[in-house]
Amino acid sequence: MEIHRVAAFRDNYIFVLHDAIQGQAAVVDPGDAQPVLQTLKRLKATLTTILNTHHHGDHIGGNRQLLERFPQTQVYGGAEDRGRIPGQTHFLQEGDRITIFDGQSGGSQCVAEVIFVPGHTRAHIAYYLAPATPDGWGELFCGDTLFAGGCGRLFEGNPQQMVESLGKLRQLPDTTRVWCAHEYTLNNLKFAVTVDGTNAALQQRLTQVQAARAQDQPTVPTTLGLEKQTNPFLRWDDASLQEAMGSTSAEQTFARLRGKKDLF
Ligand code: ZN
Ligand code: FE
Repeated sequence: MEIHRVAAFRDNYIFVLHDAIQGQAAVVDPGDAQPVLQTLKRLKATLTTILNTHHHGDHIGGNRQLLERFPQTQVYGGAEDRGRIPGQTHFLQEGDRITIFDGQSGGSQCVAEVIFVPGHTRAHIAYYLAPATPDGWGELFCGDTLFAGGCGRLFEGNPQQMVESLGKLRQLPDTTRVWCAHEYTLNNLKFAVTVDGTNAALQQRLTQVQAARAQDQPTVPTTLGLEKQTNPFLRWDDASLQEAMGSTSAEQTFARLRGKKDLF
């Protein structure tokens, strides 16, 4: 299975999962159908699966057009997004396991585990693909919950929920690739250094990301190991960050970070 990153709109990423042996594909958060159809054509692949993380237009906007072209496509989304995701056929909850590719005719089996991560929206879910081999990478499709160097805004949730949701993601192995849905990394890191300026790993990352973006290179996927070191929104219980935010609890640290970032 290969993962293709497809750019859409100003700063969205759509991900196409391709099983070349079976000639099948799945797509995560197709906000726009056009670039997905172009990618499928290039890969000569049939779309079988849409995986939506949440109901926002830049994540579901292409569902209808993709269904017109591939009517058999199964559409997965959170149970609590019922009525908000066009064409939804499966209503998922924490811990559900779904088969994306069945591994028949010599392809590799691909199974995703559902993680319920409310906060950005009340129904948001993430999809986690465990590593195929003990020393391989896991893959996390987390929509607008965790970003490289940041996290999603709280539109339908509160800090407590988001800390809990990000806490679930933080428990995954460091060797997890994080496929987040927006190229927000540079701005996120510029904010991060204002609150966590003594973090050497963060300084170094900002320099690398500035260089990458100056050449228009993507910064997604990132890895969970790097996020745990440098993303303030995963470091709510770090003592120096708590002190910098003048807070006494993890939740308060997170809430103050999020509030500051909203104004950045
Ligand atoms: Zn969103
Ligand atoms: Fe989005």
